[in-house]
Amino acid sequence: ATFGTLSDRLADTFKNLRTKGKLSASDVDGTVREIRRALLDADVSLDVVKDFTGKVRERALGDEVNRALNPAQQVVQIVNEELVQILGGEQRRLQFAKKPPTVIMLAGLQGAGKTTLAGKLARWLAKDNHTPLLVAADLQRPNAVTQLQVVGEQAGVAVFAPEPGNGVGNPVKVAKDAMKFAEQKLYDVVIVDTAGRLGVDAELMKQAADIRKATNPDEVLFVIDAMIGQDAVATAKAFQEGVDFTGVVLTKLDGDARGGAALSVASVTGRPIIFASTGEGLDDFEPFHPDRMASRILDLGDILTLIEQAQGAFDEEEARKVAEKFATDSFTLDDFLKQMQQLRNMGSIKKMIGMLPGAKGMRDQLDNFDEKEIVRTEAIIQSMTKAERTNPKLLNGSRRLRIARGSGMTVTDVNQLVQRFEQASKMMKTVAKGGVPQMPGVGPI
Ligand code: GDP
Repeated sequence: ATFGTLSDRLADTFKNLRTKGKLSASDVDGTVREIRRALLDADVSLDVVKDFTGKVRERALGDEVNRALNPAQQVVQIVNEELVQILGGEQRRLQFAKKPPTVIMLAGLQGAGKTTLAGKLARWLAKDNHTPLLVAADLQRPNAVTQLQVVGEQAGVAVFAPEPGNGVGNPVKVAKDAMKFAEQKLYDVVIVDTAGRLGVDAELMKQAADIRKATNPDEVLFVIDAMIGQDAVATAKAFQEGVDFTGVVLTKLDGDARGGAALSVASVTGRPIIFASTGEGLDDFEPFHPDRMASRILDLGDILTLIEQAQGAFDEEEARKVAEKFATDSFTLDDFLKQMQQLRNMGSIKKMIGMLPGAKGMRDQLDNFDEKEIVRTEAIIQSMTKAERTNPKLLNGSRRLRIARGSGMTVTDVNQLVQRFEQASKMMKTVAKGGVPQMPGVGPI
């Protein structure tokens, strides 16, 4: 999905930070460099990236991080806050006129999704007890008027279109007539769909500017396709100069675009993103929340909470010792049990996995993980002798039978545990080099 790669890259960056205590200047620089690369690869415009990473770096090297109990967590917090800022800061709601009708004009390139958006917006407003009127002022494309009529019908809202012979070819006149009509018939919101071109051109700008002058809109929404890539910034600037707009609508966020260019638009134009469109259906549409979008991009789940909990449960020294044991193959069933007991302190394992960044695949896998398993494992290990726990190779058939009886489990249960322990040890040995605390029995987090 849009921002998928960016999300993964940022999550990886923070995963590397997570295991560290105090951050050195070079830790910060490394992290900032990775963030910078991830943003540029996602098509975020260079100016925005520079500004963003500059702020993150400055703050990350400053006092708020130095003083923080958990510097890594603080850096994630800063990245999140700055991302919210480039997305426009506070949520900006649609503005209504003090005296109806409220006029909303849509502008943008052809194919950006204006007509579709007109329908979505009208439906959304109708649900909120408004009586919107759609106005077909796109007289450029042969079937644009029909398309708007279809959309209006689907959305269950009225459409104002030029009568044949009256106003055809003159979108400014259509828009003016529509305003009069709306006032007479008490429509309280007028949504004016305008023509787009495949590229920015002077005539298009002039027409849009004329419609703007004629209708004096409360909002001019610049509609931009998130898939347009690097051209987004130039297009937005051209529309800002030619027509100017009060807000931005991002469309096709459901696509596979890298999306970064669209992210730059709010920051480059200083205009807020007001809505996001996420599909072809009339309901695939929502008010834009910079903070929610930032969380979505960071895909952090509750990474901040996770960092907290992980640090509470595993002290670093302990984690290092365990990693060393894996690496040197001296990890025993006793250690296995100890780790499990530690994990208990962290509360539900599933809950924890749910908070891990980028752990979607793992999450599904772990949905099958049964916490009672820990209790059973505990019972089995506690029925073993010290020697058996240290050296599982001792566990022959008769010992396994004794352990099964002692723990109230079956020999198959005992066999499975030993097998799992061996698999886990093997797997951990390969990942132990990173020194990240791992969960026994369920594989690396
Ligand atoms: P206009 O030329 O700006 O009026 O653009 P249209 O509204 O005709 O949309 C162009 C195409 O994009 C149509 O096929 C729409 O169904 C599609 N479209 C619009 N918005 C979205 C969206 O958010 N997601 C997806 N996937 N398609 C969209």
